[in-house]
Amino acid sequence: MTALEKPDLYELDGDGPALNLLFGRCAACDRLHFPRTRYGCPRCGARPEQVQSEPRPGRATLLTFITLHAKLAPGAVPPCVVGEAEIAPGTIEEIMLSGTEEAYRDGMTVVARAEAVERGGETVLACRFAPEGKV
Ligand SMILES: [Zn+2]
Repeated sequence: MTALEKPDLYELDGDGPALNLLFGRCAACDRLHFPRTRYGCPRCGARPEQVQSEPRPGRATLLTFITLHAKLAPGAVPPCVVGEAEIAPGTIEEIMLSGTEEAYRDGMTVVARAEAVERGGETVLACRFAPEGKV
């Protein structure tokens, strides 16, 4: 089985390729955060043992996006499309989008899926977002 690139951030939903994102749910303030950290709740400062992992379907509202033509991040092979998306109410993350920017528009719903990428000669499953309905 192919390993996930970042298993601390997401997991396969069943057999995939759909992904669940791994949020933290804080027992003290009852709020979600992403990614889950080992330092506890970033919202209220509660200790790590107060935070439970909460997998949620990788579904987001795309706020904005841009095509990168230069290699700005390790593992991102240009050209690639990056965006900002609201992955849960009030939680905005930078995401990587599958394919080219023609497929996207602001405000649309995108879903997370596993996509095989090469990392140092090995194939791993990275998290890429794609338009809903095309997974
Ligand atoms: Zn909290």
